[in-house]
Amino acid sequence: MHFQLPADLDDLQTRLLDFVAEQIDPITEGVDPEAPPAELRRQIAARSEAAGFYRLTVPQSDGGLGGDPRLLTAAREALALSGNPLAARALGSGPGIMRLADNDQQRDDLYLPVIRGERSAAFAFTEAIRADGSQQPTQAVRATLPDGADGFLLTGAKGFVTGGASSDWLVVVANVPDEGTALLVVDRAAPGVTAGELGASIDGSTHSPFYFDAVAVPQSRLLGNVGDGLPRAMQNIDRMRLSVAAECVGWTRWVTRTTLERIEGPHRSGAPLADQQQVQAIFADMAADSFAARTTLYQAANAREADDTTAGTQVAAAKWLASETLHRTVDRAIQLHGAQSLLRGHPLERLYRWSRSLRIAEGPTELLRLTVARHIRQNGVDAL
Ligand SMILES: Cc1cc2nc3c(=O)[nH]c(=O)nc-3n(C[C@H](O)[C@H](O)[C@H](O)COP(=O)(O)OP(=O)(O)OC[C@H]3O[C@@H](n4cnc5c(N)ncnc54)[C@H](O)[C@@H]3O)c2cc1C
Repeated sequence: MHFQLPADLDDLQTRLLDFVAEQIDPITEGVDPEAPPAELRRQIAARSEAAGFYRLTVPQSDGGLGGDPRLLTAAREALALSGNPLAARALGSGPGIMRLADNDQQRDDLYLPVIRGERSAAFAFTEAIRADGSQQPTQAVRATLPDGADGFLLTGAKGFVTGGASSDWLVVVANVPDEGTALLVVDRAAPGVTAGELGASIDGSTHSPFYFDAVAVPQSRLLGNVGDGLPRAMQNIDRMRLSVAAECVGWTRWVTRTTLERIEGPHRSGAPLADQQQVQAIFADMAADSFAARTTLYQAANAREADDTTAGTQVAAAKWLASETLHRTVDRAIQLHGAQSLLRGHPLERLYRWSRSLRIAEGPTELLRLTVARHIRQNGVDAL
């Protein structure tokens, strides 16, 4: 029997695929997926809201439809499997890193505006070289702020902050001397915050470096406690990794399906390419890779849902396998589609660029392999 999802997830995927085919495909035809007009983005969101999908990312306790790892994994896989790059916009903003807001004031000031889509936060994790050329990690020193309140003075630099240029807040991971790491929510427009030059990467996303020069951050903008910043940041990264893995698996399946149609179709040689044994071998590699990445994905999603102690390692492995699999699969598909798939604007050309960046974003493959190695050295090879 082939790999089959439980009935609730299978049903969700069927409904999402029908929704994209009936309501998203007709309005997105011919649109550049890397630069969709704002009005189209609003239309997608409105249709998704009406169809009951938009709030899948928000916990039920906050008026949403779930936000659970298993459900979201299935939803993201299905939206990618639809083959429409704009379908992912059918999911509204989840809490993202604001999930870590853990008192009533932060919930009202930070968390709720984000899940309502009124405000946005970017994640400033990766250290960068400071504006003065020095390389010390970003530091937050406890201080009494000019208005007399307790807080921190933040100094340092963060790089590659995706969406930072248009976000309201930057959630910065900083080191508090002698105490450990902290997560601070910084107004992007606060005095002392400077954005560097906006960079666009090959996947179509944009990133900015940010420089912090003794930026005053009140205590009320500390997420959690000083000392638990890094583990909390890793919780957010873990969610992102599962999400990336799900999208990669969905796209891997779409590419594999599309390639099968291509090689089974007529070819100028007079016989379908699929009749060639070398082509069959390449296609078999694609299908087996896809199967392996998908089974690992759902194993990891179940572990995360159950909050299993191995979940972080499983999610790391799933992200590594899924992103490497997608890139390899797209590369093979380009080989089998031939020159036409290299033309700018071809879906495989776009996927090639996008999947390339995912082997680095949310943890490069080499670091994820280290996570797995550390885990099995501590717990044995069967502990994954
Ligand atoms: C599309 C995209 C979006 C991103 N968005 C954000 C964001 O929103 N916020 C943010 O803070 N950052 C973001 N990043 C940055 C991302 O977190 C970093 O690129 C990533 O952590 C790797 O750091 P680096 O690029 O500085 O590479 P380096 O740390 O310099 O590493 C370069 C390479 O060296 C190898 N390597 C590094 N360390 C080891 C090791 N210990 N063992 C073996 N090999 C190793 C790996 O192959 C790695 O790819 C984004 C990156 C991408 C590509």
